[in-house]
Amino acid sequence: MAKGLLVIISGPSGVGKGTVIQRFIHDPALNLAYSVSMTTRKMREGEVDGVNYEFVSKDEFLRARDNGELLEWAEFVGNYYGTPLKNVEKLREEGKNVILEIEVEGCQQVQKKCPDAVSIFIIPPSIEELERRIRGRKTEPEEIVQQRLDKARKEMSMLQNYKYVVCNDDVELAADIISLIIERHIHYNQDKQQ
Ligand code: 5GP
Repeated sequence: MAKGLLVIISGPSGVGKGTVIQRFIHDPALNLAYSVSMTTRKMREGEVDGVNYEFVSKDEFLRARDNGELLEWAEFVGNYYGTPLKNVEKLREEGKNVILEIEVEGCQQVQKKCPDAVSIFIIPPSIEELERRIRGRKTEPEEIVQQRLDKARKEMSMLQNYKYVVCNDDVELAADIISLIIERHIHYNQDKQQ
């Protein structure tokens, strides 16, 4: 059995990564698994521990990081986020194609360790639209919204590190395009491993 692909999906906070991913994550043709990250951020309303994230204390996070249990990690607007290595490896060995929804620094770390990873950056149609979406979510206070917008501008200057850039102007179209990219890479990967 061919080892599963590693697919990195990044994009600024509020661009709709989660919504786009939800559209194709259960598509049987893609055989995907979502890598649940570890974070020290507070749980938002509607989020479920172990599903959206594994919510941990700063001590627990740093212990996992220092024990080499993370594939990558980053600090993002005052909180730590990281990908548990064990889950990703297990899923890929089982032939699953694993989706990492991570920010730009984490992506660079993964690309160094796994040069075959397929990286996709989702951009908003405009910065104004991104601001409208972050505010519309009403999950963060103004100070954090500003920090996330500053971070978004910086992240958008890093998109040359990605193999593909997809605009989320329309969720359905963005999801279709990303599914197609993944599908083509699955076939390419299988041909290469035969
Ligand atoms: P949020 O707080 O909005 O859920 O996530 C903030 C940012 O952290 C997003 O860009 C998200 O993609 C990123 N992120 C989530 N999990 C991870 C992770 O495990 N590693 C890294 N490097 N970034 C992550």
